[in-house]
Amino acid sequence: MKGSTHLAIGTMVGVAGIAYQGAYEPWDAAWYLSVAAFSSLSPDLDAPSMLTRKLTAASRFLRGLVVWAGSASIVVALIAYLSDRLVHPELVTAAVALTLLGLIARQGVIRNLLVSGIGACLFYTGMNDSIGWLLGFGLYVAIAPWLKHRGLTHTLWATAAWGWIAWELEQQLLLPGLTVTAIMGYASHLLLDIITPQGVRLLYPLWNKSWKL
Ligand SMILES: [Zn+2]
Repeated sequence: MKGSTHLAIGTMVGVAGIAYQGAYEPWDAAWYLSVAAFSSLSPDLDAPSMLTRKLTAASRFLRGLVVWAGSASIVVALIAYLSDRLVHPELVTAAVALTLLGLIARQGVIRNLLVSGIGACLFYTGMNDSIGWLLGFGLYVAIAPWLKHRGLTHTLWATAAWGWIAWELEQQLLLPGLTVTAIMGYASHLLLDIITPQGVRLLYPLWNKSWKL
């Protein structure tokens, strides 16, 4: 299912949340909207998605940069050896290491590392400032990229964990119904994926049955 479809439904969930809670203050409304929208997109953090498109481009660039730096170092080491019979062990090691890293690390791995890095920063901030939801959200963002697509993030367990994160946020912002809005946003993603042929394994890894319509 396309990210824009998820986002459209997520936005509708957010609007419903605003209407139901009568949260028409702009700042409050913005919270319901962004929580619902984010909830509807987050399950796909386990794959290149709308949320990580910029990072996918950045990782392509980074990978190219590493390969170039490695190749350039090899050339420099070679020139040093040919002209002065000098061997720089550090330079040779760095050159080989960089080139290998650039060639082996697929772009996806670099993207995942970038996403996880952001998650780790959020987690760290949450821990330092004792912000429960940021801690949980950071952990989710750090782990999700490494999971199999439509695996753990597309389960009832993940929906429950997401609900806990939102509940922590609701306690902090004192916005009633934010948890329900988040759970409905998250669930809307799973429901939409259920319509696709691949379906969703809602109880993975306990039960591998794929639910689809
Ligand atoms: Zn999905």
